[in-house]
Amino acid sequence: MRLAWFPTIRPCVPAAHSPRATAARPRLLLLLPRPSPRRTLLTLAIESSCDDTCVAVLQKPSPTSRSSDAARLLFHEKVTSDNRHFRGVHPLTAVVSHTAHLGPLVQAALRALPEAPAVPIGGYETWKRLLWVDGAVRLKPDFVTVTRGPGMTSNLATGLNTAKGLAAAWDVPLLGVNHMQAHALTPRLVAALARGGALEDARWRPEHGLATVAKRRMAAAVGGSGDVDHQDPQFPFLSLLVSGGHTLLVHSRSLTDHLILAEAKNIAIGDMLDKCARVIIPASQIAGVDNVMYGPLLEKFAFPDDAGQDYPAAYGYTAPPRRVDEIQVFDSGRGWTLTPPLSGTSALAYDFAGFNSQVQRVVEDRPDMGLEERRFLAKHAMRLTFEHLASRLLFVLRAEGGAAYEAVRTVVVAGGVASNRYLMHILRSMLAARGFGHLQINAPPPALCTDNAAMIAWTGMEMYEAGWRSKMDVLAMRKWPVDPRAEGGGILGAEGWVNVKM
Ligand code: AMP
Ligand code: ZN
Repeated sequence: MRLAWFPTIRPCVPAAHSPRATAARPRLLLLLPRPSPRRTLLTLAIESSCDDTCVAVLQKPSPTSRSSDAARLLFHEKVTSDNRHFRGVHPLTAVVSHTAHLGPLVQAALRALPEAPAVPIGGYETWKRLLWVDGAVRLKPDFVTVTRGPGMTSNLATGLNTAKGLAAAWDVPLLGVNHMQAHALTPRLVAALARGGALEDARWRPEHGLATVAKRRMAAAVGGSGDVDHQDPQFPFLSLLVSGGHTLLVHSRSLTDHLILAEAKNIAIGDMLDKCARVIIPASQIAGVDNVMYGPLLEKFAFPDDAGQDYPAAYGYTAPPRRVDEIQVFDSGRGWTLTPPLSGTSALAYDFAGFNSQVQRVVEDRPDMGLEERRFLAKHAMRLTFEHLASRLLFVLRAEGGAAYEAVRTVVVAGGVASNRYLMHILRSMLAARGFGHLQINAPPPALCTDNAAMIAWTGMEMYEAGWRSKMDVLAMRKWPVDPRAEGGGILGAEGWVNVKM
């Protein structure tokens, strides 16, 4: 609704006999649409750490509000740069795409800001909280959130500089947040959106059919009850952050305290799946994808009828009951074998480069491999990859005879690879087979698994409520571990944080 808004300007000058007559500053009292006292927090967020240019607008009740703790995503858009020519993300191509698309996305996001409620009588304070956008009066974001790191420096800088410009122009705080922290917190955003009914409303992401997918996946996450789980993952929880650039097993103890328990020694799991997909899937199908993210295609290729999605039994998967079963060399019966990664050690680490080489060799040695065998290879390559992921989670859960992580109730799985339903099935099955079936696996819907600005906005919300603000001179950080024990001191070790509550 646009406001029909006719302000009456009444100069308010003290009467001539008043002692304040000469001293007082003339004041303008305006008939303005005045927002009621801030009962909500509103942020505009930008994500540009890799090849996705993402902008979101998120609103949630402020901590002082008595209304329900629900969040609303008012805008959520992404443009992915075309890196197919390079067979991987080319930083400069991505920067050009950020530079071209960020402006228009921000412009569109401003048109999604809530319109100001019309309440007469206001003053200068009222003006401060409003923006004129395309002839309508809208609420100004309370702060601007942006990904500060980790990621490609120039790519991050594009978003960071735009965010600084907006924060300076609007005279509101800036929050430069950590991308991996944001992935870990995404299920908390999903819970807040669910409380606000947003998961019933596919309007904000219609092309992904979020409502249905989210319901189905969240139902699966709570053991197939069919109900959407609206519980936050409460700290402490374990997080598997599995994306194109990272593979981390993290003990999330609080908003800013995420201990890294295991990480990839070389390439990330998503990168490995993309590389495997490129050789396993026939070239004609690879050519049909409009970006370099081949993981979803690999899943679709291995399970073309999607049967496991609704009936997990259709996967025909039985979890190895013991570690000794899990590390058996897989004999395909077709003249090739695959050895599970790091099968000879219980080191808390992931190795996807070595396993990728095995898969590449299988295909190179059999250029005429038929479609059925390729699907078979895709399925078992994913299976062994996901069992490797689960193996380190089980090592951790069993540490100190199970005492170390007794308080953990939830395993968060986030990042692009968390969209893979076979991964979810394998994790759930392995946990159940090894005595951890009581743990809840919590994975965001696919639209919030891959890089997006909604998770950045949510991280901004949680950090803002905890009192954190970024100074305007903060710089992009190529590396920024979430672990407070890491060199640099983790999330809060970065220069430029100020806490207004301390
Ligand atoms: P992110 O870096 O978080 O944006 O995630 C992107 C990575 O996730 C890419 O390597 C994708 O191939 C991978 N990915 C996305 N969806 C899936 C899926 N369904 N199965 C496997 N990998 C996926
Ligand atoms: Zn990411």
